[in-house]
Amino acid sequence: MDGREDAPAIGIDLGTTYSCVAVWKHDRVKIIPNDRGNRTTPSCVAFVDSERFIGDDAKSQGAMNPANTIYDTKRLIGRRFSDSKVQDAMKLWPFKVIQGPADTPKIVVSYKGKQKEFLAEEISSMILVKMKETAESYLGKPVKNAVITVPAYFNDSQRQATKDAGAIAGLNVIRIINEPTAAAIAYGLDNKSDINGKINVLVFDLGGGTFDVSILTITKGDTFQVKAVGGDTHLGGEDFDNRMVEHCDITGNKRALVRLRCACEKAKRILSCNTQTSIDLDCLHEGIDFCMKFSRAKFEELNMGSFNKCIETVEACLRDAKMKKSCVHEVILVGGSSRIPKIQSMLQQLFDMKVLSKSTNPDEAVAYGAAIMADKLSSNSNKSFKDLLLLDVNPLSLGVEIKGELFSVVIPRNTPIPTKKSKTYVTCNDNQSAACTKVYQGERAKSTDNHFLGKFTISGIPPAPKEAIEITECFEIDANGILTVTSQILSTGKTEKLTVVNENGRLSKEEIEKMIEDADKYKQEDQEYKKKADAFNALEDCIYNMKKMEHVIADATKWIEDNQNATVDEIERMKEHLESMCMPKF
Ligand code: ADP
Ligand code: MG
Repeated sequence: MDGREDAPAIGIDLGTTYSCVAVWKHDRVKIIPNDRGNRTTPSCVAFVDSERFIGDDAKSQGAMNPANTIYDTKRLIGRRFSDSKVQDAMKLWPFKVIQGPADTPKIVVSYKGKQKEFLAEEISSMILVKMKETAESYLGKPVKNAVITVPAYFNDSQRQATKDAGAIAGLNVIRIINEPTAAAIAYGLDNKSDINGKINVLVFDLGGGTFDVSILTITKGDTFQVKAVGGDTHLGGEDFDNRMVEHCDITGNKRALVRLRCACEKAKRILSCNTQTSIDLDCLHEGIDFCMKFSRAKFEELNMGSFNKCIETVEACLRDAKMKKSCVHEVILVGGSSRIPKIQSMLQQLFDMKVLSKSTNPDEAVAYGAAIMADKLSSNSNKSFKDLLLLDVNPLSLGVEIKGELFSVVIPRNTPIPTKKSKTYVTCNDNQSAACTKVYQGERAKSTDNHFLGKFTISGIPPAPKEAIEITECFEIDANGILTVTSQILSTGKTEKLTVVNENGRLSKEEIEKMIEDADKYKQEDQEYKKKADAFNALEDCIYNMKKMEHVIADATKWIEDNQNATVDEIERMKEHLESMCMPKF
């Protein structure tokens, strides 16, 4: 053995609110429960004076420690601090986010009495480490390779940053796949025998923070061709919670708000089964109890705007796929919020369906599909997936800025990937010696209304009148959906590649290495803390047992005083009893 044991590759659904890990083992997908026995783990990390918590432990102490309990990092990852979506989300977070270099957001926490700053990638990597360890303790082997899923609507920087988070967690990210595609794979595998020829499915994934729709054609249960994707990176269960919180209309401190949001989330889940519930919180703020009845009708009324937006997005996706509603054979429900009855009935009505597919578990379908993909891509792959073919698309148009701040699309959205496309442009000025390529992603006509991915300059353009020199911009998207842009001066053949890396605040190799070291350090600190806490606990147990002995001895001494008339039998029984108390316990 060379120390490189072949642990299977795992599939991780790194969610905004919950994450899930799965592996293909013994010819089936195993969703791996965490150390608390839960099949999904809150995507939450918390810092306290003495230690760091990840997952359930972090979430459960959230109300006590709101400023240092970090969640929702998926809303930050790969975005700039000044992004309006980040600014909006920040208003609701009880933790602090500041503007770092290159406009990257940094999360500020107090950890072990010191102020610490983390990038979203680092917090996400901590959650990934937790998922990795969950898999390792199940498999009994170190895990290296993983497929991580992202919303189909994630742009290039968000995908890159997710990959970086994987690297920081010590994972080799063998592929980034889209969440709805993963869910469709799960559905395809489970229904393989029923799928004759081709079927069209619509994956409706409404989670905690993001909404994703994809339309796919599944052929014979193993070829998955994405026809169109759509969605909203800022629409999900948390918005519904927020609306409930707003409706409760209380002003309070952070702690009160965290407690209220938590209670609203619980009430929301109850309203998916019952038509009435109430929110009761003792001493919520300034000693005053809070109590409010909440009906399903009220919940629906508050969120109707969002629900309609979901349906509009579905309709837009159908248009993009050039597909009639009646051609959709199945709607696959994914994400915790797809359990909301109103959403289900709106979808049923839209598609004129009597029932929606319930064959996949909405919380687990994404990780399930990711595990299948992980097995397919890993060297010791199971033969049964050799025919599995994924034909995904580019979710947002990619292009460059041209004169007048206009956006010129090179790869239109919904183009199947991997792909390579080129467009040729001419110089704007006489004797122009250099050209700057600014790369954007989005659907707006004005370049700056889109998401800026990065820029680079090609120099050494030979002197010539304007429009005489041609420059080709070649855009290439790999199977992960990650982009490389190359500029070429046609007459000289000189090329220049886009290094999105630093320009876009993306992490450099050195920065990632530094963060891997830090992650190791935190892990060691966690372990040391745990060791110390365990040792203290053992010592306290020992003291407790000895203290108990004090009572036993005192009781026995008193017994002697009180029982001078006792029989030999009774005295001997007392002695036996005393001895049994002193025996070591097994
Ligand atoms: P993500 O993929 O964004 O991490 P999930 O798919 O795990 O999210 O969904 C989490 C969201 O689903 C949370 O906002 C949670 O409140 C919501 N949710 C879970 N169960 C229910 C339910 N029964 N009814 C309504 N919402 C639910
Ligand atoms: Mg999800």
